[in-house]
Amino acid sequence: MALAFDEFGRPFVIIKEQDQKVRLRGLDAQKANIASGMAVSRILRTSLGPKGMDKMLQSPDGDVTTTNDGATILEQMDVDNQIAKLLVELSRSQDYEIGDGTTGVVVLAGALLEQAQKLLERGVHPIRVAEGYETASRIAVENLEKIAQRFDFGVNNIEPLVQTCMTTLSSKISECLEHLLWTLWKLRICVNRCKRSLAEISVKAVLAVADLERKDVNLDLIKVEGKVGGKLEDTELIYGILVDKEMSHPQMPKQIEDAKIAILTCPFEPPKPKTKHKMDIDTVEKFQTLRKQEQQYFNNMVQKCKGVGATLVICQWGFDDEANHLLMHRDLPAVRWVGSVELELIAIATGGRIVPRFEELTPEKLGKAGLVREKAFGTTKDRMLYVEHCANSRAVTIFIRGGSTPASCNKMMVEETKRSIHDALCVARNLIRNNSIVYGGGSSEISCSISVEAAADRYPGVEQYAIRAFADALDSVPMALAENSGLQPIETLSAVKSQQIKENNPYCGIDCNDAGTNDMRQQNVFETLIGKQQQILLATQVVKMILKIDDVISPSDF
Ligand code: ADP
Repeated sequence: MALAFDEFGRPFVIIKEQDQKVRLRGLDAQKANIASGMAVSRILRTSLGPKGMDKMLQSPDGDVTTTNDGATILEQMDVDNQIAKLLVELSRSQDYEIGDGTTGVVVLAGALLEQAQKLLERGVHPIRVAEGYETASRIAVENLEKIAQRFDFGVNNIEPLVQTCMTTLSSKISECLEHLLWTLWKLRICVNRCKRSLAEISVKAVLAVADLERKDVNLDLIKVEGKVGGKLEDTELIYGILVDKEMSHPQMPKQIEDAKIAILTCPFEPPKPKTKHKMDIDTVEKFQTLRKQEQQYFNNMVQKCKGVGATLVICQWGFDDEANHLLMHRDLPAVRWVGSVELELIAIATGGRIVPRFEELTPEKLGKAGLVREKAFGTTKDRMLYVEHCANSRAVTIFIRGGSTPASCNKMMVEETKRSIHDALCVARNLIRNNSIVYGGGSSEISCSISVEAAADRYPGVEQYAIRAFADALDSVPMALAENSGLQPIETLSAVKSQQIKENNPYCGIDCNDAGTNDMRQQNVFETLIGKQQQILLATQVVKMILKIDDVISPSDF
């Protein structure tokens, strides 16, 4: 340490090698890594389950997000630590593969790390722990298959699917509103009513794009759009495309049936004189000739569109009042300034072609849609164009509205609803892909914990400690659910566990909503088998990876 003075004579202290980092090796590295992983998992633990808390995250530019979706929280947390980043990746992989269970997977990974730490302190080698975890995860996954049940639904019997989506939505939307809106009691009623309609919309959207024979769903065909304003109940499913535009003239028809659409990237205006052309308009006659010629141009363009049978023109460019008036007069509705992405989407969905010149317009290049309509929203001037029952595509759009009070919360609400709907869509898709389910509320984790614990005795080596530790880690999910619902975690868990063993009923879980029964079959709380299996496998892989790191070398070390 040395004392120095700056140019104004103010003293300051220089601490030598202040920024020299301590390089961690061996057990210290493992312990430090485990601590970082556990810190991230602890943040998410309180967000798990139907009574989970929300997190309010502020981005560097001041945007605020309020959510309890694990993947979103981690995404926006901007973590610096490499191990913490691994857990962010873990949650992202679960989101990518399954779409739900993003919080649960990180909570489980955190619990596995916590148990590993205890074993390392007792002198068990990290590789033994990793191997024990691997064996235990296989036992747990097999047990899940044993307790899984078939989930029956059909195109004409969508009720079971709707119920599942409602379970997913119930742990999301209500809390978001609880946090955000001060007119709480009023909105609670609204949300409970909406939950069903949102679940129904999600299921119908998935079924509309699903290929039931191949058991596959392309979620890219479902566009989720949101617009601030209106009520959550106004959220709707559109069998087609939504364009944030309106008819170019207020007197144009608002509804066109069996529309034949000309999709144009050429402007509705006469060619502009080039700068090198010189034009003198010094008499009234000359001006009138010019005007007539201009009108003739417009006439020809409109005639060309009408000639090939178009009943609607969608144009990438704008057109002036003269052209607009003529289009209205000649009964040819038009939409202007449509972005190129939307234009392409319309072309794909309606089976039309994007036409760059009027001369190239032919009847075959027109897009076809059963109904095109313009819809106004309440008293606002907002209008949107619905292109429905398109010829070529099964693409659908979920249009989310939301937040009547207070204005600043609206955007957040729409965004959170978007995320929740994404989860519901993923759950419905997973069930179509594989209709096996396991029950939620921590029941399947408890059942796996019992079977892993029982299997541990069969392993004579040190591995059995790791297998038991795995069973304890599984218990942390129901414990977190109980804790977040205001129940006594240890007492509740032990009561449910002994009930599962006594009644030989693997469906007993944590009664988070105080429904009066902890049989999750009766509460209709379930999750997809593949989702739960994925959670266990992914969490185990990441923890194994963390345990195998025994030296952290960064560029400053050289
Ligand atoms: P994730 O992002 O992991 O899906 P959630 O916050 O959605 O996290 O919580 C999911 C957990 O909450 C699952 O373990 C699920 O079984 C449980 N859960 C959801 N609804 C209920 C309920 N009504 N009663 C008990 N547990 C529930």
